[in-house]
Amino acid sequence: MENFRFQAVTEASKKAPLAVKAPKERPSEYFGKYVFNRAKMQKYLPEDVFQQLTDVIDNGAHFNRSIADAVATGMKHWAQENGVTHYTHWFQPLTEGTAEKHDAFVEFDGKGGMIEEFSGKLLVQQEADSSSFPNGGIRNTFEARGYSAWDPTSPVFIIDDTLCIPTIFISYTGEALDYKAPLLRSLHAVDVAATQVCRYFDPNVKKVRANLGWEQEYFLVDEDLYHARPDLMLTGRTLMGHDSAKNQQMDDHYLGTIPDRVQAFMKDLEIQALELGIPCKTRHNEVAPNQFELAPIFEECNLAIDHNMLLMSLMKRVARRHGFRVLLHEKPFAGVNGSGKHNNWSLCTDTGVLLHAPGKTAEDNLRFVVFLVETLMSVYKHNGLLKASIMSATNAHRLGANEAPPAIISSFLGTQLTELLNHIEVADKEDLFTLHGKQGMMLDIPEIPELFIDNTDRNRTSPFAFTGNRFEFRAVGSEANCACSMLVLNAAMAEALTNFKERVDALIEQGEDQTSAIIDVLREDIKTCKPIHFDGNGYSEEWVEEAKRRGLDCENSCPVIFDRYLDEDSIKMFESTGVMTRSELVARNEVKWEMYTKKIQIEARVMGDLTMNHIIPVATFYQSQLANNVARMFEIFNRDEAEKLTCRNKKIILEIAERTKIIETGVEELINARKVANKIENEREKAIAYHDNVEPMIETIRYHIDKLELIVSDELWTLPKYRELMFIR
Ligand code: ADP
Ligand code: MG
Repeated sequence: MENFRFQAVTEASKKAPLAVKAPKERPSEYFGKYVFNRAKMQKYLPEDVFQQLTDVIDNGAHFNRSIADAVATGMKHWAQENGVTHYTHWFQPLTEGTAEKHDAFVEFDGKGGMIEEFSGKLLVQQEADSSSFPNGGIRNTFEARGYSAWDPTSPVFIIDDTLCIPTIFISYTGEALDYKAPLLRSLHAVDVAATQVCRYFDPNVKKVRANLGWEQEYFLVDEDLYHARPDLMLTGRTLMGHDSAKNQQMDDHYLGTIPDRVQAFMKDLEIQALELGIPCKTRHNEVAPNQFELAPIFEECNLAIDHNMLLMSLMKRVARRHGFRVLLHEKPFAGVNGSGKHNNWSLCTDTGVLLHAPGKTAEDNLRFVVFLVETLMSVYKHNGLLKASIMSATNAHRLGANEAPPAIISSFLGTQLTELLNHIEVADKEDLFTLHGKQGMMLDIPEIPELFIDNTDRNRTSPFAFTGNRFEFRAVGSEANCACSMLVLNAAMAEALTNFKERVDALIEQGEDQTSAIIDVLREDIKTCKPIHFDGNGYSEEWVEEAKRRGLDCENSCPVIFDRYLDEDSIKMFESTGVMTRSELVARNEVKWEMYTKKIQIEARVMGDLTMNHIIPVATFYQSQLANNVARMFEIFNRDEAEKLTCRNKKIILEIAERTKIIETGVEELINARKVANKIENEREKAIAYHDNVEPMIETIRYHIDKLELIVSDELWTLPKYRELMFIR
């Protein structure tokens, strides 16, 4: 039998690192080379147009369509200087990844020739007949029109010969069909609500911005080995594979020396990412073998998300040049670390960071505590929804499964902050703050600067940890569009801040002093949100029990977790902040359930195919080799001797027979379970059937396949093994 696995292993182990030629300039010089950024806007746009456009970008001023043509002309001019011939609206439908449809700049000139044309109309809005994108029933196919509309706050960029224009994607009736539209609405909502609250402390604050710094984890696998694993190719993860004897036990991969071939890939990737304006900063080996991380400097949330989407597609492309495939799946290999995408989130005003602890003045410190506590309030109130926002068929393997963080959202604060909140809660209000005439307010708050000491013992088990000047949402999946969770967080924060302000204003109306009113409401909230605060070990079993007692959402089933989007509290939050309507939410959940079902369906089919085409044939082939050996033994030796000598082989023959039987029956049951589930019309019920009845069978079958891998001769096994997938590079 020809063994594709051996060829793959041989090919993979022969590869040398690719020589990557770095640009002559320094990174600071080629950063943003292919981005229509401020400098280029200034160069290619008339002065008044430049002014108007930056006003739109910086201050959210209304975009006046009359400048669209001038902007388009400037962009086209710059693009053509860079050899660009096409343009595309670049958007983020409810699939994974981004979508684009390229059009050439050319138009007929009316005289039998062609001219290069790009008008403001084409820049600003386009009709995309994209009826095949998931929309949860918002668009019937006969009304397939969807519109993409330019998002001027995220600059256009060039990939190869194409000018890419970041856009939102909405239906004919105005409903969002993507991630960006509701994200932008949530950023607006949190801006408005937070600015209002900031003005208690500083009346000059004009704008509040949400920041995001993501950390992208990923695996690399040699391309030849990848091609020999149909499960990796079709589902993004290994559906089978016995543990490698050595994996991550020695902790020798984390922050270890980066392998040469990987280093070359990273270098290439970073150069191209920097040219696209993605401010790459950190790269390192992660915990599992062949697992790595890339983190840029944080940016404004919307831009950061576009950059993450762009980076993920760039990674895939660059990896192939280096003979790798990048795995963004949250759990490509059982038994070792999965991949997440920590979302470092914070708010800042046009004058400074809001979640930065050590303020110089008492006002700053009080403001810090308000924003801290209201973040906790949002996370507490919507903990189930936040969990839904990061949940997916793939991330479910990380959360609440064999690996932390658990499928329970809680927040880590550290000792100093915990003491600070306790102090504010119980201290005599008169002692807590006193008004000192012109000197302003004195606030008896323990030394906040000490907080930084706390940053060193950060709790790695917490899904939502405070880390000095930001919250780190660690439950987000490596493959996810960050917008999905960020828009929930922003909306929840907008709601909490609005609610906070209403209560403070009511007290002020009753004649209470502003600071006193703020502290009263703050104390109330510190008490209310206590259940979300947990500094202990989030991986422990006791925590699950404790979290249940505290009333936190402990649901483990992915399709049921999606229900949280349709809770009345959630709908109220989304509608009151203007982020999403009930019908949008209903439609999105249809998509979520459908996606879940399809993912498990594909896994089940691949499992069936691999079992029938690889596992059973290989195991029975080996079994017959052994059987031949046993028969020959009886020919050569006398019965007693032969009995003794064939004892081991007979045992293996029997084990193969038993396991292949279980596997075959399992595959039949799997097919039947799918048939039953496929008949269910309701998307939610169907997803639940896939979760409850189909998914567990995949795991059972796997168990027996992995046992077979241990006993079948290595030279017959056709699928690259874990030790090869993770250690050959
Ligand atoms: P670690 O792995 O220790 O959490 P990294 O350095 O890998 O830290 O990543 C931290 C991320 O947090 C970076 O993207 C960084 O830019 C980002 N970050 C730092 N400060 C803030 C902030 N105030 N708001 C949002 N993100 C921030
Ligand atoms: Mg981090």
